[in-house]
Order: sequence, then structure tokens, then C-alpha cells
Amino acid sequence: MTGKGTICVAGDADRQTGAVNQPLHLSSTFRLTEGAYRAIAEGRGREASVYTRWGNPTVGAFEQKMARLEGGEEAVAFSSGMAAIAAVMLSHLRPGDELVTTRELYGGTYSFLEKELKRLDIRVRYADCTSPRDIASAITPQTRLLFFESLTNPLLRVLDVPAVAEAARQHGVPLAVDATFVSPVNQNPLSLGADLVVHSASKYLGGHSDLIAGVAAGTRDACREMWQRMTRHGGCMDPFQAWLLLRSLKTLHLRIQRHNQNALAVARFLEQHHRVAEVWYPGLESHPQHHLARHMLQGYGGMVTFRIDGTDRDGLAFMRRLRVATEATSLGGVETLVSMPFNTSHSYLSPEEREAIGIGPGTVRLSVGVEDVEDLLADLRQALDSL
Ligand SMILES: *Cc1c(COP(=O)(O)O)cnc(C)c1O
Repeated sequence: MTGKGTICVAGDADRQTGAVNQPLHLSSTFRLTEGAYRAIAEGRGREASVYTRWGNPTVGAFEQKMARLEGGEEAVAFSSGMAAIAAVMLSHLRPGDELVTTRELYGGTYSFLEKELKRLDIRVRYADCTSPRDIASAITPQTRLLFFESLTNPLLRVLDVPAVAEAARQHGVPLAVDATFVSPVNQNPLSLGADLVVHSASKYLGGHSDLIAGVAAGTRDACREMWQRMTRHGGCMDPFQAWLLLRSLKTLHLRIQRHNQNALAVARFLEQHHRVAEVWYPGLESHPQHHLARHMLQGYGGMVTFRIDGTDRDGLAFMRRLRVATEATSLGGVETLVSMPFNTSHSYLSPEEREAIGIGPGTVRLSVGVEDVEDLLADLRQALDSL
């Protein structure tokens, strides 16, 4: 068995030139050969280099590396995480079918369900993502897909992947998991029983807040279905994004290790600060699902959410006093980012509605970066102490 770090680093050498890195093939089209014509005739346009929306050698190298990192037979690259999620949904669901999921979803995914799937007469059933029993009881004979996130935003609830996968298996329904927050270093949903794993590669896989991309991995058959959706919807990955991702993946294991360490230290620090009312981090013993964190391979990730003992206005004042962390949405980059759900991801809810789902006033979300942890802690301390 090859370790994650070795997979991250290995295998991009170019056979033709001996270059140790995968070349960037900025070409929309490729010279047609007998083999290419045969592939086109047999619907295998992805395998032969024909046209970049169907397949590109640089994109293919990224897909192969992701398949290895997730333990899938294959992977398919997309122009964004949302393009990948749309392909996962639409390769399983037709009019009259049902999806079982949870309201605790990435905002873009939630609006895809509400605005796109419902238009197609696909019914969406919402369950409590922390209860495999509730999820199982939402499954009907019309259910064709289960879709959940490994860790939810912003309260970092942990999906019990093996238990939900078992419920899915018993009902003969595939389970797709959005593992963006955990990365393939901390968790491989496929090895825990999920059928498909999907990522916004814009986050930890890219890791430098400089690109938008997505990827999904699973069986060869599932990937063929998703690839067909991708070629028809048009959300193919740009070869340059694939090249940047291949470069980023070489340090994924190192970055995640540091994100894990820094975030745990930050969560522990926040937990004992007198101006902090609550901290959510799966690696803390106080987290209600800390026991499920055993499904994390190396750590609990870089996301930490906490509530200042105060108002949303205090939260804003806190953020504006930070000097190391940058006030920005998104996550998974090397730099620490800070934002508040009330005026970003959950601004569409009223304060009462936010409170009802556990997002009280003063809730702040940190994407803890890979800076020196002493500097991060000092920055957080000065901003909290000055409140
Ligand atoms: C960012 C994100 C997405 C959407 O990905 P894009 O690359 O922005 O399209 C989906 N799921 C999760 C959990 C995310 O954080």
C-alpha cells in the first residue's frame, strides 16, 4: 500500500521528454489518428486525445492522481465544485425521482436543489445529517441518491459515513459525499462505504486561493455517466487549472498536516478564552460528535467555528482587529481566512432562523492556514482581548 504523501508527490513525469513534471497541454484539439477515430466511433473520446472538452492529457493526469488519492477506479475533473455536484446529481436523478440530503449543505448546493432539481420535478427530502436513522427513514422507493457533506458548514457536524453508507446499501441507493472540508488526506469516503466522492478543488486541493475547480471520483461506470454530463453541460476543467492542481497536490499532505495541527491549537486556545462562548471543532473532546472523528485519518481539518460572547457587531469588530488573518470568504488556502456566516453564507436567513439552526450572534468561521501557530494565536488573542 502506497502512502498518501507518496501518491501526492509521485507520477507526473513525462515519458516523451523525461521532464519530471506533467507538461501543460494548452491545446483545444489534437491530431486525429486511426486510434482517435476508433475511440470517437466507440464513444471513448475521453481516452484518446481528440478535443479538450472531452479529455486533455494534463487534465487526465490530475484525474488519475485524484482517483489514486481517493481510492476510486476513476475520477472526473470539472470547471468548479458546483459543476461536479451538478453532474453527480443529474447522473442519478430524473423527473419523479427523489434525493435524500440535509439542509446543512453548502449554499450553492442547497440552491441547486431548490432552484434546479425542483424545476425538474425531482423531490428533495431533508434529514438530520447527524442521525443515520433519520436519514434511513427518509429513503423511499423513489430515492435514487443520498448526498451529504463529510463536515458541514459552519458548525462542523460530522457525517457518520459508515452508518449512512450501510443505510444506503440496505436500500440499494448510492451515497455521494462532498468531502471538500476533509480533503483526501483526512478522509476517504469511498473506503468508508460511500459510492461517490466529490470536491470543490477550489479549496484544499488547490490550496492557494488562486483557482476554481471541481472533481468527483468513484467507479468506472459512475465516472462514465458523470463524464457524459460534463461534456454535455460543458463544465470541463481548463488544462491550466489541472496543471496548477497537480503542482498543489504535491504538497497536499504537508499542508493538511499543518492545517490539522494549527486548527487544533487554535480551537484549544479559543475554548479557554473568556470572550469565547462556544467552539466547534471535531478534534475537541467537547464536540458532540468527537467520537466519529475516528473516521478521520490524520486529523480534523483546518476549519474552526466559534461564537464570541457578544453580538454580530462584536464579531465584526473582532475580525477587523485581526492582522494575520484576512477577512474573506472561501477556505482551504495556505493563508488564514476569517468570515461570519450572518453576512455571508447564511445572510439569507433572519437572525431567529440562524439561531434556530445553531448559528447564534457573534459566530465566526476560521479557515486556519499554515502560518506559524504562535503568530495566529497572538493575533487571535490581541483581537479578542481588545473587545
Ligand atoms: C466551495 C464549496 C463548493 C462549491 O465549489 P466551487 O468550486 O466554488 O464551485 C461545494 N461544496 C463545498 C463544501 C464547498 O465548500
